Amino acid sequence: MNNNNIRNFSIIAHIDHGKSTLADRLLEYTGALTAREMQSQFLDKMDLERERGITIKAQTVRLNYEADDGTVYVLNLIDTPGHVDFTYEVSRSLAACEGGLLVVDASQGVEAQTLANVYLALDNDLEVFPVLNKIDLPAAEPERVKQEIEEIIGIDAHDAVLASAKEGIGTREILEEIVKKIPPPAGDPAAPLKALLFDSWYDQYQGVIILVRIFDGTLKKGDKILLHSTGRAYEALKVGVFAPSMIEVPQLSAGEVGFVIAGIKEVADARVGDTVTLFHNRCATPLAGFKEVKPMVFSGLYPIDTSQYEQLRDALAKLKLNDSSFSYEPETSVALGFGFRCGFLGLLHMEIIQERLEREFSLDLITTAPTVVYKIHKTDGELLEIESASRMPEPQYIDTIEEPFILAHIHVPNDFVGGVLALCEEKRGMQREIKYLTPTRVMVVYELPLNEIVLDFYDRLKSLTKGYASLDYEHLDFRPSDLVRMNILINGEVVDALSLIVHRDKAYFRGRDLVSKMKELIPRQMFEVAIQAAIGNKVIARETVKALRKDVLAKCYGGDISRKRKLLEKQKEGKKRMKNVGNVELPQEAFLAILKVE
Ligand code: GDP
Ligand code: MG
Repeated sequence: MNNNNIRNFSIIAHIDHGKSTLADRLLEYTGALTAREMQSQFLDKMDLERERGITIKAQTVRLNYEADDGTVYVLNLIDTPGHVDFTYEVSRSLAACEGGLLVVDASQGVEAQTLANVYLALDNDLEVFPVLNKIDLPAAEPERVKQEIEEIIGIDAHDAVLASAKEGIGTREILEEIVKKIPPPAGDPAAPLKALLFDSWYDQYQGVIILVRIFDGTLKKGDKILLHSTGRAYEALKVGVFAPSMIEVPQLSAGEVGFVIAGIKEVADARVGDTVTLFHNRCATPLAGFKEVKPMVFSGLYPIDTSQYEQLRDALAKLKLNDSSFSYEPETSVALGFGFRCGFLGLLHMEIIQERLEREFSLDLITTAPTVVYKIHKTDGELLEIESASRMPEPQYIDTIEEPFILAHIHVPNDFVGGVLALCEEKRGMQREIKYLTPTRVMVVYELPLNEIVLDFYDRLKSLTKGYASLDYEHLDFRPSDLVRMNILINGEVVDALSLIVHRDKAYFRGRDLVSKMKELIPRQMFEVAIQAAIGNKVIARETVKALRKDVLAKCYGGDISRKRKLLEKQKEGKKRMKNVGNVELPQEAFLAILKVE
């Protein structure tokens, strides 16, 4: 194929600005999908994505477009997720492209992730051009938003396409811009194969599928390929493209994007960022690859039914292949038994993994409240990294504790600045900058402990700004902090899965709020249940759940069979998310109550 006729591009945008809808329009316009086949947001393949309206896994599709100049171009569209937790996936998709379509909602303007994603694109040397979407909305202000793009981002927007992905306005203009503004891929099809493995996942029927961007050389069906990082060789059994369903092609050459199925069995062998080359004709130097991303938020996952442990382990291994930013290791909890400590990029990432485990693998799980990584310098000089409060040593063995800090960029209309500053201060933040981007939009920059962000920061930010604030963050460093471990005791027993690490100044209030929250959540049982919060031996708060009166239960007996069965089924439902701790039944919510304390 002639490289001059290929364009590889991503759509980048802040969440909800219309990437996925625009992708649908491009597919429809180029005939990749007929209107009848068209399912809204085709590229959001997972049910979960469709329900939540967000794009989780980046997807790739090949389109054929006959341009005004009479040439038929091959356009490879690589969809990317826009949420702050998935910056990693965005950056690896971008590495496979030459250009980026910057979609900005004309009724909203530039948001925190618009900026973050543009910077990622520019870091990858992409040609970026803006498209103003949602011009059908009465609130659209294309001229104001053009000015914002020029002032805040610093790219030319005077001839930005005005589009409505919803109504199909501007679709052809966008396709023309892609052809004219994005450079064709470089690369020599005759050179030794050099391809970037930029995504991989496990398919139940085909095994491991890898997505590659060929930078040099040609990859044919039947070739013996070599994965650089592991040094292992495989036969390319199938080579193809998504158009948008999988079709085989005889070969992929320099500049092209497609999939390879090569009988790779080991989950760990298809590493994203790896270089694919030919066994008998290797490229001299591998591609730069990607920075290893480190999970920053951790939580314990335990099967409610202990017999599902093996199933959970297999499911985690499969998910890990589809998502290399996620990590897990076995963990045992006195309260919850055998489970796994899992690492995520952020809270949304965590929720999505948990939901996928339950839906796609039919597992019932108890999840513990999320924590971050702490560095503990012990008095004997040892350095511990812990991601679970239950692993924190006794205070007398601790010299100093460090916690991770982030740099948060918050974009907010000026009416809400006061509230945002108060929230950041409450969360132990340190102000770095307040800047008026336009007369009405303000950028607030704060250094904040990640520990406070994983609590309820994002929800609070959204509600106090009526949804108008947007947030993006990056990791800064670890800093010493006065942190203590707080234990929760149920009838005198420490529930390890409920222990948490808090700042000393906040411990008293957190403890008090937490036990009163738990009192509401724990159902009454046959006996009294005492809930206590303690630091070391010192109890700082206590509440009691009174015992049930016997005659309340008595009422449940007798009556007709079907009612009884219904009652039993209902109880079973209720049991689903209950875990016995000692002889007390704790609901899932109790394990997450830590999150909701204000
Ligand atoms: P993404 O998060 O960037 O992928 O955004 P989506 O494509 O999922 O769109 C977010 C919401 O905006 C959905 O409810 C879409 O129906 C809506 N939307 C997308 N494009 C347009 C548009 O041009 N006009 C209007 N009025 N709504 C749109
Ligand atoms: Mg989307």
